[in-house]
Amino acid sequence: MITIRTLAELAAQRARWPQDVGFIPTMGGLHEGHMALVRRAREAHEVVVASVYVNPLQFGPAEDFAAYPRTEDVDCDKLAQASVDAVFLPTDAAIYPRGRESQTQVRVPGLSEDLCGRYRPGHFEGVTTVVARLLGLVQPRACYMGKKDYQQWRIVARMVEDLGLPTTIVGVDTVREESGLALSTRNAYLAEAQRSQAPDLYQILTEGAERVVAGVALDHVEAACMERLKALGFAPDYVAVRRAGDLAIPQAADSELVILAAARLGRTRLIDNREFRR
Ligand code: AMP
Repeated sequence: MITIRTLAELAAQRARWPQDVGFIPTMGGLHEGHMALVRRAREAHEVVVASVYVNPLQFGPAEDFAAYPRTEDVDCDKLAQASVDAVFLPTDAAIYPRGRESQTQVRVPGLSEDLCGRYRPGHFEGVTTVVARLLGLVQPRACYMGKKDYQQWRIVARMVEDLGLPTTIVGVDTVREESGLALSTRNAYLAEAQRSQAPDLYQILTEGAERVVAGVALDHVEAACMERLKALGFAPDYVAVRRAGDLAIPQAADSELVILAAARLGRTRLIDNREFRR
């Protein structure tokens, strides 16, 4: 596996690679969820490139940028084991050469201010700005994103469509522990007691989806899930049932839905979701 740190090295490698590059952008702290994206890309493309970059632009001032796990050596070992061809480990200067304030920003209006965007102002703008730049630098045929970050996946797909970028965004199913807990780098923050509680989030979303299928009104389901989360010791930001394709409020005729939630357990903010049909 080649390790690439500079724009010049990346440009030189890119010129040698075929068009068929599969790309997996990450913030490191790699786990089996990330590796599922890597494996999907490995099956489908001649060249597979991953990036590890903890993007300061997508963290709020009170968020965990400084504490975010940085495990570069272990991450590179895992990527090499998975037969990734190259890992891009950019510096801030490579991603934001003009400085964070002066760099061109990319914003997907509406979708970025909804759901998690309401509680993390500027977060998705940070995500779309960095992903747009990474797609421009790596020029992949396909980019693999986890459905665990469902809203992020839909926003990036919208950005690619709106900008006419020549990359296909592929959504990959969430990898979970046996308990149902979605794998997340941030799970490392959970204390032991919180770790045994965290699987309740997905359990409650699963039950919520079942109640929607059974015909219970969406606002009742959302409110009941919020109450159950609170009773179990979570501090939920939201629980929402949305149309899967565009995260709009579902109309009566919509059958492809997703129930999404964000909830804090102590200082750790967990997100999860479940797609379902009614
Ligand atoms: P992150 O390093 O958290 O920015 O995640 C990098 C990519 O891995 C994103 O597209 C995530 O959605 C994806 N990802 C993270 N956790 C999981 C998981 N448990 N299952 C599938 N994909 C995941």
